[in-house]
This record gives sequence, structure tokens and C-alpha cells, in this order.
Amino acid sequence: MSEYIISIDQGTTSTRAIVFDKQGQIVSTGQLEHKQIMTNPGWVEHDPEEIWTNSREAVGQALARANLTRRQIASIGITNQRETTVIWEKATGKPIYNAIVWQDTRTQDIVDRLAEDGGLQRFQRKTGLPLAPYFSATKIVWILENVAGAKEMAKNGELLFGTTDSWLLWNLTGGVNGGVHKTDVTNASRTLLMDLRTLQWDEELLKAFDIPAAMLPEIQPSVSEFGTVEGNNLLRTVKITGILGDQQAATFGQTAFEKGESKNTYGTGNFLIVNTGNQVVESINGLISTVCYQIEGEEPVYALEGSIAVTGSLVQWLRDNLGMIGESSEVETLAKSVEDNGGAYFVPAFSGLFAPHWRPDARGVLVGLTRYIHKGHIARASLEATAFQTAEVMAAASNDAGIGFGELRVDGGMVKNETLMQFQADILDIPVVRPKIIETTALGAAYAAGLQVGFWSSLDQLKEIWQVGGEWKPQMSAERRTELLKNWDKAVQRTLDWA
Ligand code: ADP
Repeated sequence: MSEYIISIDQGTTSTRAIVFDKQGQIVSTGQLEHKQIMTNPGWVEHDPEEIWTNSREAVGQALARANLTRRQIASIGITNQRETTVIWEKATGKPIYNAIVWQDTRTQDIVDRLAEDGGLQRFQRKTGLPLAPYFSATKIVWILENVAGAKEMAKNGELLFGTTDSWLLWNLTGGVNGGVHKTDVTNASRTLLMDLRTLQWDEELLKAFDIPAAMLPEIQPSVSEFGTVEGNNLLRTVKITGILGDQQAATFGQTAFEKGESKNTYGTGNFLIVNTGNQVVESINGLISTVCYQIEGEEPVYALEGSIAVTGSLVQWLRDNLGMIGESSEVETLAKSVEDNGGAYFVPAFSGLFAPHWRPDARGVLVGLTRYIHKGHIARASLEATAFQTAEVMAAASNDAGIGFGELRVDGGMVKNETLMQFQADILDIPVVRPKIIETTALGAAYAAGLQVGFWSSLDQLKEIWQVGGEWKPQMSAERRTELLKNWDKAVQRTLDWA
């Protein structure tokens, strides 16, 4: 009897395996961290072999902890850190270089070179993305240009590229013995190489980046059969039937299946995704257009994505740079020691302002200070900064897509903070909803995998089993909200023209 789905969540700092039951509840978990390899300023690498080994061990932990065998697993879902680039040799299965991680900025020169002809928006209409080191394409170019012989090997079809979903899939399905080389539409949509409308690799883009088509994985819907685990593996004979990039998986795990539904993940930074239905919405406010998910045999569903660089990391800054708190969670106690921000506003434009302002010349400010202000107010202003920035990005998405929001579904490390959640609801003037299972990324991949094999019958059934864990309703008066937002705007103005 196959009573469970297992999700492999290949994240930036660790790889986890989580077993879910029919109700979408967590049965067991395995987790291993991997090394962050930083040999130069701005460089971040992972060892793909370590990630593959860790994923196997994490699966072993999860199965063992619940006393399960592969026969009880209906199918496998994979979710992963997006954009992170692995290139390996087809014949040996050996990576020719470490994985270049999404945070890595070494390819700025390649971006500048490509932007000379047509600017940073050169491929935006086709891909939904600006040219940036963040996306996979320039990372592939860097490896091909910097590893001896790589270019030749790639042309001869001897190399394979993949984001970490593809790397795990290929290894799970046999590796050098017939491993399946595929990815899903959401991961492909982050490479700068896929046409958002055809959902295929695009010749013009491949030519511009000089990347041979032979090294790219086949693109499939997120909910579809990718392959079967082969070889000496705990999960042998089990099928992989769902793959989604992490933010899209979280959106799926929040059951934000319909146009206008959204989720916001509060981590070191924030990631907002707004489902725009079967239509690609081109942003005029500097948001990214991306694939939200695709179910086999159905039209793709698209999304707008907005990210905020500094949210949870501002709390870490209070902890590590100011020593104001010993642990992140203490920020709430401190913030609750005061009634309000006392007139203080903190705009953490540490490396400029991103969406929707796009002002690289901005730097952080803490304004409205008087003799009255103490660290409680600063803690509060720091939490409020996350909520204000979220409101700005949501307003931009709402303008771009011409939609209003009924509620905001949230997840991530910061959503434990109830003071923040209440303030977020107050500032947005809509309810903020936290799910019972906060592991929405792994849950989303499980939902996708389970849907494909009939473990769950429909999106409607998923909506039914999805459970609310907490809800915050707006309580603030309209006058107070207007006043706070007006002051925040004033504070944002004070950050400009600095650097
Ligand atoms: P990521 O996935 O980006 O590594 P997480 O989702 O684990 O991050 O969230 C961690 C972030 O949340 C950290 O920046 C931390 O400072 C912040 N954080 C954790 N607990 C709290 C809390 N109770 N209040 C505010 N921020 C918190």
C-alpha cells in the first residue's frame, strides 16, 4: 500500500526529505546541511556530489524515522534552490566545476558585455527576466569559458547542464546508466534561456549566450512523470512525478492555484509571488514574470514575482552588528515593550532600493529619532520595515496585474513573529493567513507529485486538506494606516541620492 509521498527539498543551505501522508501532514523528516564554498568576494559555490550524497542520506533518515520502505511511497516530488547551475560530464557523471549558486555575482562582467547590445531589458519580453548574474545563463557561460576544454565538450554533446532538480533527477534515475535529463517549466523559466510563451528553449537566446542546445535538459510540466528511480537506491522503482522551483513550490503548497491568489515568504529576504492565471503579465514596476506551475495537459499558469532584499536579515543585523538581541526571536519581545514605533522609521536600503523603486544610489536610514526613542522603538521600526516593504511590492504587483488581493498567505522563518503578522494585516488592510504546515516548499512539491499519480484527485481536494494555522485580521483605523504609510514614504525619500 502506497500511503505516503516523499518530497526532496534541495535548498541553499541544506537538503531535506519530508514524508507526507494523505492529509498533507508531516510524518517524518531528514535533513543535512552542505558547505557554502566562498573562495572570492561575491562567489558562492556548492559541491554537487555533496548535495547528491546528502539527498540520499536525508531520504534514508526520513524513511527510517517513520519505519517506512519504498513500497509505502506513492511517488517523489522535488523542489530546489532556483538558478543554481551544475554542469557535469555525461559519460562519468562528474561535475566539471562546483555548482555556481544563485547568490553568486561573479558574472557581472558577462552581463555587462551582453547588455552593451540592447541593455538589461534585452531579453525581458521573451523571458520575463532582466539580464542579471542571478539567473542561470551567465553562470553557464562562465563555466564554459573558464573550465579548460569545456566549450569543446559542450559542443560535442559531452556535457549536461541542470539546476539542482535536474542534477538529482539524473542521478536518481540511473546517472551514467541512462539517467533522465529533464527539468520543469518553473526551473527553466529562471535560466534566461526559455521563451515564457512557448515553454521551450529559445534559439535566439541560446545563440546570444553561445550555449549549445545539446547540454540542456528537456522541459516538462511541473506536474508530470519525470522518470523512475533506478539502481541501488532506497527509493528504487518509485516515480518522480512533480518538480517545482522553491518559490513556485511554496505557492503551490499554499494552494494559491487561482489568478489573484498570492503568497509571501518571509526569510532573510522576502519573496512575493502573485498568480496571474494563464496570461503572462509584463511588469512596469520592475517585477519579474515567471511560470507559476503547469499541470500536464493543461495551460501553464504564470506569476509575477517581487523580492525584497532585506527583511529577516535586518533582524540578524540588529543581533550581529548592534548586539541589540541575542536571538532573532527576541526582537518580538523588545518590539512588544513599546506601543508603537514612537515616530521612528527604518528603511534598510543597505545595498540600494529594489522593486518597485530601483534606486541603487539609496542607502539605509533610521529617521524620526528623538530623545524619547529607545531600543524597543528601533526593534519595532525594524519589524515594521518588513511590512512596509511588502506593502510596496504588493501595490506594484496589483498595479501590474490589475487585481486586488483578498488575503495574503505567508510562510518562512519570520512568520512566527505574531507582532509582525498583525502589523502586516493592519498595513495591507487584508487578512494575513499562516498555514498549519509552514514547510510549504516541500508540501508544494508533494502536492504536485501526489496529484500526478492520483494520490490526491484534484486541486480542489488539495484546497480542502490545506489547513489554516493562524489568521490576523486588520484592526487599524484608516487614518492611522494612512499616516504610517505617508511617513514611510517620507523616510524612503530620505534614503535617495546617497551613494
Ligand atoms: P531563509 O530560508 O531565507 O534562510 P528562514 O525562512 O529560515 O530563512 O528565516 C530566517 C530569518 O527569519 C532570519 O533572517 C531570522 O533573523 C528571521 N527570524 C527568525 N525568527 C524570527 C522572529 N521570531 N522574528 C523576526 N525574525 C525572525
